[in-house]
Amino acid sequence: MISTSCRLCASSKLRLIIDLNYHPLGDTFLPKEALNESETRYPLRVLQCEDCGHAFLQYVVPEGERYQKVDYSYTAGNSPVSVKHFGEMAAEIIADQKLGAGDLVVDIGGNDGTLLKAFKDQSGCNVLNVEPAGNIAKISQENGIETLHGFFDAKAAANIKGMGGAKAITGTNVFNHINDLPAFMKDVKDALTPDGVFVFEAPSLYELVKRLAFDTIYLEHVSFFGIKPLVKFFSTLGLHVHRIEASDYMGGSFRVYVKTTPAASTAAQDFIALEEAAGLYEAKTYEEFMTKVRKFRSDLMSQLYEIKAKGGKIVGIGAATKGNTLLNYCGIDNGLLECVTDSSPLKIGKYTPGSHLPIIPDADIPKDATHALILPWNIGNFLKDKLKHLNLEFIVPHMDGQA
Ligand SMILES: [Zn+2]
Repeated sequence: MISTSCRLCASSKLRLIIDLNYHPLGDTFLPKEALNESETRYPLRVLQCEDCGHAFLQYVVPEGERYQKVDYSYTAGNSPVSVKHFGEMAAEIIADQKLGAGDLVVDIGGNDGTLLKAFKDQSGCNVLNVEPAGNIAKISQENGIETLHGFFDAKAAANIKGMGGAKAITGTNVFNHINDLPAFMKDVKDALTPDGVFVFEAPSLYELVKRLAFDTIYLEHVSFFGIKPLVKFFSTLGLHVHRIEASDYMGGSFRVYVKTTPAASTAAQDFIALEEAAGLYEAKTYEEFMTKVRKFRSDLMSQLYEIKAKGGKIVGIGAATKGNTLLNYCGIDNGLLECVTDSSPLKIGKYTPGSHLPIIPDADIPKDATHALILPWNIGNFLKDKLKHLNLEFIVPHMDGQA
């Protein structure tokens, strides 16, 4: 499906700003038998609306293909960094909305229920997870979180309204996956109580550009948000941005609070000033960005070839989706890396899409490995610390962007 108009303002004045060539779905890890079959690759390109400045993928893989065709492999509860992050996020929203027993909090695409569990434990409120991936919805239910298996749509919104409405609706790394944003936001608004808040957390285009985080672009991320186009979009729906919290999570995200009541704070205007100063809505910014991305690739490849030429053995650490964009864009395969390690039982035993590297537990890292390429660089320090006993030399892309 090719985007021919802006997802926020419907303008057809679009320019191509980022082109990362062809990629398979980044978060679909492959079972061994799939290696005997062909693998579909799609163009990974970002367009920007010349009218409102919104950035989004040119080619969008249909939602059914993205989430329901094969088992989805990411669970937040598996990562201590995520558990801590979601615990803090719940506390912030509980304080902001004064949530307590009897209030309803809905998490859209709530994964294994990690965020909702924090809400429940900290405030005693009622929770509901709306999760489209069948295997993950089942894990959420097993974790004691009430879960509706399916996409968040008008029917789900009507269900929630029937329950009295939600005082808070959250979506972490979800809002940027949505195809039809106007329909989605209408459903969110319908499901909220009049004093309710929609809080979404998504990678910010500002941080993506600042950190050269091209690997946070993948086929599952439809939109790359700036505050300027969002404010304009929300105002057409009678919604207002009340609060913005920048975070290092996922390599540079923001958490945005949206309500139906007018905002007293200048949070949005302040953020837009930052974006404009960084040239976020100018074509030339992305010409420079792509030049730096190509240099990043040639520098990293030279470094890896040099290690191999000297007899080194390199392993990849962390089978993260962003790692797959990096591996496939650079063309790194089993000629350079032995394997990739991960702690998730849903990934171990499978292979990385495109590059086809076997995923093994940390404990099975070959004894003669000399170097480790850390793929989820946003938690690079955490992983370096966790693996320091192995005496490996670490290579961390985008060093200055670390959490
Ligand atoms: Zn637009």
